[in-house]
Amino acid sequence: MIKKKILVTGGAGFLGSHLCERLLREGNEVVCLDNYFTGQKQNVVHLLENPFFEMIRHDVTMPFFIEVDEIYNLACPASPIHYQYNPIKTVKTSVMGAINMLGLAKRIKAKVLQASTSEVYGDPEVHPQTEEYWGHVNPIGPRSCYDEGKRVAETLFINYHKQNDVRIKIIRIFNTYGPRMHPHDGRVVSNFIVQALDGEDITIYGDGSQTRSFCYVDDLLDGMIRLMNSREDFIGPVNVGNPGEFTMLELAELVLKLTGSRSKIVYMPLPADDPLQRQPNIELARKELGWEPTIPLEEGLRKTIDYFKNFS
Ligand code: NAD
Ligand code: UDP
Repeated sequence: MIKKKILVTGGAGFLGSHLCERLLREGNEVVCLDNYFTGQKQNVVHLLENPFFEMIRHDVTMPFFIEVDEIYNLACPASPIHYQYNPIKTVKTSVMGAINMLGLAKRIKAKVLQASTSEVYGDPEVHPQTEEYWGHVNPIGPRSCYDEGKRVAETLFINYHKQNDVRIKIIRIFNTYGPRMHPHDGRVVSNFIVQALDGEDITIYGDGSQTRSFCYVDDLLDGMIRLMNSREDFIGPVNVGNPGEFTMLELAELVLKLTGSRSKIVYMPLPADDPLQRQPNIELARKELGWEPTIPLEEGLRKTIDYFKNFS
């Protein structure tokens, strides 16, 4: 018997495609909505054999009507090079996408989860970041189309909840990686792995001392699904990420070790407003969701490297 009918926006992307797969495996009917800007049909084409899976080409900036029980709103480019390609469109995707999905949820009384981000903390002055921290974002910088778009989306979610009783959940996702990232995605983990496997230079931006905390995709999705199914009055925002913190130089050295590559490390200019440090405090997720990550960076990198080896 089908448990729930679920809409996943951005379902053909990296996280969305894993989420669709997982929700189908758990016995749900899944509708994947995507405009294929950074996602690909290839990521979900294997799911089409399942009669309980559907793909729809649609842009979340336009209204959309469907009857579902739950909505996971993931539609938005996540890699800096892609979200900065058309910054106005990025803002529209976050803001109008949120309005359209919240309006839909209100009308059909569905529960809706927003894929927010650690970028709402900007270049943080509080370390590690807790949910109470309001952030340090440059509103006119190159990352603002993404950061401010996601911040306004959180504002819309909270106010549709307060004003219209829409059932919402907000997850703040910290850097997540794994198989099915696009080889030209541009984010650091896929860049370094592809460069190492191809014997090309490993491009570190800045001096490599900036930090990120990397979460493997399976762990992240556990947290996301737990949040959707958490008690009604727990709405977040909640940080979900792996607190293991690494410098970009440490990441590059680990990728070189695990691939056995002889690529050279080269240093390139640090992009403007690039956050210098990032690490989630996950006490709230531990307490409310009973969640914590289980896959250390080295193990997750091995799985991701295997994926890219078979890919190329
Ligand atoms: P991704 O780029 O692989 O996936 C995003 C998907 O959204 C793609 O399939 C893309 O085609 C689709 N999309 C973009 N604009 C759209 C639009 N206007 N209408 C319909 N579809 C659209 O990125 P991802 O890593 O899978 O990220 C998924 C979500 O999670 C994003 O909202 C992102 O902001 C959030 N997030 C991801 C991370 C991470 O580290 N992976 C971290 C923080 C937040
Ligand atoms: N980065 C890098 N080399 C690359 C890609 C990214 O050194 O080829 C750096 C980037 O400047 C940032 C970190 O790695 O400091 C993470 O970048 P990513 O784009 O993956 O995510 P975000 O900055 O949004 O966390």
